[in-house]
Amino acid sequence: MEENKDNIILSIQKVNKKYKLDKTQSFQALFDVSLDFKMGELVSIVGESGSGKSTLMNLIGGLDSLFDGKIIVDNKNLRELSPKELDRYRKDKVGFVFQSFNLIPYLSILENVTMALTLSNVSEKEKEERATKILKSVGLQYHMKKKPSQLSGGQKQRVAIARALINDPDIIIADEPTGALDSATSMQILKILKKIADSGKLVIMVTHSEKVAKVSSRVIEISDGRIVSDKINPSYKAHKEKISQTKKNPTKQYLSVYSALHLSFLNMWANKTKNFFMSFGVAIGIGSLILMLCFSFGISNYINDTRASFSDPTIVTISKKSTTSDMKSYEQFTDEEITNIIDDLNKFLEKNNYNFVIDTGSEEKNVTYGFEAFATDVLGGGLSASISCDFNLDGEYTEDETMKIYYLYSTPPYYGDKNLIKGEMSSSEGGIMVNSSILQIFDDLDSALGKKVKITINYDSGVNSSDTLLENEVSSMAQETFFFENITAIVDTSFLSNYPIMYIDYDLLEYHFERLLGEKLSPNSIYIKTPNEKITNAINSYLQENYSNELTGAIENSLASILGEMGNIIGTSLIVISLVALLVSAIMILVVMHMSVTERTKEIGVLKSIGARKSDIGRLFSCESLLIGFFSGLMGLVVSGVLILVAYLCLIHLVGLAPITFKWYFVAIALGVSIVISTLSGIYPAQRAANLDPVEALRRE
Ligand code: ADP
Ligand code: MG
Repeated sequence: MEENKDNIILSIQKVNKKYKLDKTQSFQALFDVSLDFKMGELVSIVGESGSGKSTLMNLIGGLDSLFDGKIIVDNKNLRELSPKELDRYRKDKVGFVFQSFNLIPYLSILENVTMALTLSNVSEKEKEERATKILKSVGLQYHMKKKPSQLSGGQKQRVAIARALINDPDIIIADEPTGALDSATSMQILKILKKIADSGKLVIMVTHSEKVAKVSSRVIEISDGRIVSDKINPSYKAHKEKISQTKKNPTKQYLSVYSALHLSFLNMWANKTKNFFMSFGVAIGIGSLILMLCFSFGISNYINDTRASFSDPTIVTISKKSTTSDMKSYEQFTDEEITNIIDDLNKFLEKNNYNFVIDTGSEEKNVTYGFEAFATDVLGGGLSASISCDFNLDGEYTEDETMKIYYLYSTPPYYGDKNLIKGEMSSSEGGIMVNSSILQIFDDLDSALGKKVKITINYDSGVNSSDTLLENEVSSMAQETFFFENITAIVDTSFLSNYPIMYIDYDLLEYHFERLLGEKLSPNSIYIKTPNEKITNAINSYLQENYSNELTGAIENSLASILGEMGNIIGTSLIVISLVALLVSAIMILVVMHMSVTERTKEIGVLKSIGARKSDIGRLFSCESLLIGFFSGLMGLVVSGVLILVAYLCLIHLVGLAPITFKWYFVAIALGVSIVISTLSGIYPAQRAANLDPVEALRRE
């Protein structure tokens, strides 16, 4: 730019502007517009509505760079600036003043005025200093903390002017700044604009008012997109009193995350009701996720506890498969069979380097035995047993005093206090345990505890093997005998059977057998205590592969695996249900954020007009969804607390048991999931906001 051209700061050369209407049609709004502007000018642009004034303002303001021709500022054509340069141009070089003020309603006057500085990450202190100075020069220094809605129209426009001035731009563009004001107020605004021009800036305003036009230094008339007159006002006198100048250009250029969070928070607060309900919706999703997690953990804990009560992961149970279909008799192992199986297993363990030896003999033996009999009668070889207590002490055990035992079990090695309803474990030293069927002869469980009872056993050793006997014929080898023991405990057998069950230590039973019947007891089960679950599983699968025809695990094992399966299925379905709840929450956030972008289109336009970059706008909206996620997560925790409490009370009341397990890391899950889903669902609306065309956005009512 040549200096002798009287310090021209803005030069418009042969500008043509066409609006694209659709693929083929367009509308030309400006025709060959050429104008030069100097510092200190107060220019009025007049013309009928629709003549192209706003179009020209938007071009000068850098809001629209789709035109033909040149608009030269600082030796550069605005058309050729990169988006970044254009953002900087709007932030530092021009200031916008709109007819409808376009203040951001949820921000204070101070925050509105300093918005451009916030977008440049200027310190709070400096922001306040600069804003105070400028607000003072427009006479609003005592209104800094107010909200726009608390000001009159003239005051609002003065705030808008202060906002336009905050970055000390060279050019002020005002599109009908007095259009919404009465004439007295209009003159006040005009006076301020004149002061700005007189301080050496270029002020271009669009006006319909003759009065306003008269006091400007130059009046340009535009009609149907063409300049029809351009007159200098010879009587114009520069004002003596100058508007105060502020410091130039901030160093840092971007909206900080902190400011973005702060602004988002202010906006959310301004729309608290809407945001509360949305967050509440999300919170229900989060709350049900947590509740489902609690159930999922609770049920699996409950199942594991139940499993542990009748099985132990470090014990291998080996039983013979029943050869008869009626399950009446449990097959017994001979010594030779036991030796063979153990030897085979040991070979397998050694070959696969499990570093574990099954030991039946030494001090550190890890094999024990079990005896199980379905003890109803003695048909075809077997055992029946009964328990009786001589209540009237007449030496007779009447039928009233006697209970038939259905199952006679040796106490499994994995049974312990957890299996007991009352009392203490019996041992090889003495004692038997029964289940609550004992109420058949006792009035209550407590009176059974510690009682000495007579245990009668009818045993058919089957020496005259069953093939020599006719069916329904009692074996001639059947013997009846009995012994006395104390009842030490009541066992909870609700997972097995409610028929009368008696438990006795294997060694004790073996002792009684040998003593009374002169016969060595042969076990039905072999228990191997392993060092860990891995070895248990290895042995079990080896047995499954090689002995599946002859051997089987304990009935409890299959029960346990069924329960485990059930737990997995329940857990998975609960998680799926809550994922659906989360999906619904995510869609809700998406919809609400989308609506919010639509509602705030004008605000986005204003932010862009004062130099907000695409990424600043995107960041603002992303921060908002992040905050929503955070608050929804917090609310979700409260909701889950309530849900858990209600579920707990209902279940305890209805079924007497509430499989709910809460872990503290669920709190982190709630917050994390909530923030992640809201941030993800906020991406699209934020992108949409960032990509809004500022001119379009500003036209929106
Ligand atoms: P005004 O002088 O009233 O400010 P404008 O600059 O807003 O006029 O509009 C000039 C002409 O351009 C009008 O005829 C208007 O309809 C048209 N126009 C403005 N913006 C667009 C647009 N985005 N798409 C199509 N036509 C437009
Ligand atoms: Mg207009």
